[in-house]
Amino acid sequence: MSDVESDRIQQLDATTVERIAAGEVVERPASVVKELVENSLDAGASRVDVTVDGGGTDRIVVSDDGEGMSEADVRAAVQKHTTSKISDIEDLESGVATLGFRGEALHTIGAVSRTTITTRPQDGDEEATELRLEGGEVTRVGPAGRPPGTTVEVEDLFYNTPARRKYLKTDSTEFGHVNRVVTRYALANPDVAVSLTHDDREVFATTGQGDLQGTLLSVYGREVAEAMIPVDSEGEAVGRVHGYVSDPETTRASREYVSTFVNGRYVSDSLLREAVVSAYGGQLAADRYPFAVLFVEVPAGEVDVNVHPRKMEVRFGESETVKREVESAVEDALLDAGLIRTSAPRG
Ligand code: ADP
Ligand code: MG
Repeated sequence: MSDVESDRIQQLDATTVERIAAGEVVERPASVVKELVENSLDAGASRVDVTVDGGGTDRIVVSDDGEGMSEADVRAAVQKHTTSKISDIEDLESGVATLGFRGEALHTIGAVSRTTITTRPQDGDEEATELRLEGGEVTRVGPAGRPPGTTVEVEDLFYNTPARRKYLKTDSTEFGHVNRVVTRYALANPDVAVSLTHDDREVFATTGQGDLQGTLLSVYGREVAEAMIPVDSEGEAVGRVHGYVSDPETTRASREYVSTFVNGRYVSDSLLREAVVSAYGGQLAADRYPFAVLFVEVPAGEVDVNVHPRKMEVRFGESETVKREVESAVEDALLDAGLIRTSAPRG
C-alpha cells in the first residue's frame, strides 16, 4: 500500500484522490456540457443538440452526428486518462488542434453521475453500442440502435458527491451557466448546427450554414442581430480581427455579451473586453456593455492559450499592443458605420 511512515501525514486512497480531482474537472452542470460539446466538435460533428432538465443535475443530454465510436473505443474512452487526440508530450508541444486532449472528461463525468453513452462509428458497418456507467462502474455494455454519431446522457450528477451538490446554485443560475457555454460554442462554430433545449423548450437553434450573422440571429434574436455591424481588419501584433459589435444603444447591464475568441477558442479576458468597450469612446451609458462577437487571430508564438484550459484565460506576449489593435479594429468599424463620431483618445 503506502510507504508513508508518519502518524500525522497519510497518503490519500485512490478513490479519495479521484473524487477530489473530479470536483476540479466537473465543477457544475455547465462543465459537463462544456466537455461533452467539445467532444462532439472534436468528433467533427455537423450538428450538436444539447438538452438540459432543470439546473442540469437531473439530466443533461448531448447528441452529435460526429465520427462515433466502436464498442472497443467506447470501452476505452471511459477509462482514466484515455484519449485519441494526443499520444505524448511532443504532440502537445507541437500544438493540438482539438479542444480536448487530457483524456479525463468522460471518465470523470462517469465517476460522479449515472451516464449512458450510445454511439455508432461513422465508417464501417458496425452497429451502435450502449455503455452505462454508475458512479464510475461500467454496469452494462450492449448493442443499441442509432445512426452514426454519439449521444451522452448524464443523469443524477453529483449524486455520490453531496458536498459538491450542495455548493450548486439555483436551477436558473446553473442553467444560465449552461446557456452561456452552449452560446459560445454556437457562435464560435457557425458551420455547426447547435441547439439548446431546456425543460422541453427550445432556447435557440443555429442552422449551421456557416455565416456568423445568421448565427447571431438564431442566438440573440432579430433586434440584436440587426444592431450588429461587421468588424474586419488586420493588425500588426495580432492578425485578423473580425466579427460583429452592436451599435452603442444596443447594450446590456452585463459584460457576458462581449464574447471574444482567440484563435477560435473562447477566452474570458478583461484586456480584450476593455479594448472593445473603450472603442466606443464613452458613448456607452454607465455600466452598460455592448454585444460583441470578436475573433482575434494571434500568431501562435504571441499567445499562450494553455494557461489554464478550464479558466478560459490567455496570456499575450505584447498585451498592450494587442489591446490597442483590437480597440482600433472595433473603433474603425464603428466610425465607418457612423456610430461614433471621433476617434477616442488612446491611453
Ligand atoms: P479527450 O477529449 O481529452 O480526449 P475525453 O474523456 O473527453 O478526453 O474523451 C475520451 C475519448 O473518447 C476522446 O479522445 C474520443 O476519442 C472519444 N470521444 C469522446 N466523446 C466523443 C464523441 N462525442 N464522439 C466520438 N468520440 C468521442
Ligand atoms: Mg474531451
